[in-house]
Formats: sequence, structure tokens, C-alpha cells
Amino acid sequence: MRCPSCGSLDTQVKDSRPTEDSAAIRRRRVCLTCNFRFTTFERVQLRELVIIKRNGRRVPFDRDKLMRSLSIALRKRPVEPERVEEMVSKIVRELEGLGESEIASEVIGETVMEHLRNLDDVAYVRFASVYRNFREPKDFEQALAELTGDDEPKPAPTNPSKPKPPVAARK
Ligand SMILES: [Zn+2]
Repeated sequence: MRCPSCGSLDTQVKDSRPTEDSAAIRRRRVCLTCNFRFTTFERVQLRELVIIKRNGRRVPFDRDKLMRSLSIALRKRPVEPERVEEMVSKIVRELEGLGESEIASEVIGETVMEHLRNLDDVAYVRFASVYRNFREPKDFEQALAELTGDDEPKPAPTNPSKPKPPVAARK
């Protein structure tokens, strides 16, 4: 296993044990070149999932990519790596459980957001803001409303033009 810090291949497993739910083996490793410590997980892969992107392109689902985008969303948040790992396992099991080998990226995004929402509020809003490509403050308001349990979908105005002036003002 290559060291993620210095790139050396000279790394060693220090400790190996199953995760709490026994769905994975967690290995603590150390780089013999720079002494960097890191953790890897070994798990069962039930099937190859393919993501159908919005533009119609198909790409293999990449758990590590998902992990990376989550770690960006979770940056400096007080969440144990093991809980993130468990959440990702749940997400993957859920996606595999859909019984389809090809899954729309929207479905994956929504599934991730649903789980992330239970894990950490701040990370959820960060992830959602990138994923849903928020452009307007009202999108944030919507996401925050979802967090506080005020889930009622607000009808988005189909015509975002300015409100007409009151009739009286036209005289
Ligand atoms: Zn190293």
C-alpha cells in the first residue's frame, strides 16, 4: 500500500481488526520512510455499480471518490472516521440493495445527503450546496429547513420576475 503522504511503497500493517459491525477489516498502517500513519479498510464488494451522470455518461461508482468528497464536507467536524466509514458502508449496501447495476447520480446524491444529514448538520449543508449546485440563498434556506425538520417542500416560483407594483401606485 502506497503511503498517502510521501508516496513510498515501504509501508507496514501495525494492527488489524474488524470494524464494529464486522462489515470491514480496519488496518492501521505506518510508512517506514516518513513515519506517516494511516488506516485502510477491506470489505466485500457485492457488485459493480455504475453511475449514470446527468449528461448521460456512465462511470463506475468509486467508493474512494465518495469518501474523499465526504471528507471535504466533514473537514474539521467532530466526527469519528469509523462512523463515516460505517455510513458509507450503509450507503453502498442501500445502493446495492436497489437491485440495479446502473444508478442515476441524483439517486446516489440524495442517498448520501439523507445519511449525511443524520451524521452532521454542517457537513450536510456543505455537501448539499455543492451537490445541488446551490445558486441562490433560497436553496440554502430550503436545505436548512430540511435540517430543522421543516420538510415541507416550498413551491418554487415558476416565474422569478419581480412582484408587480400595487395597483394603487399606478395612478
Ligand atoms: Zn511516507
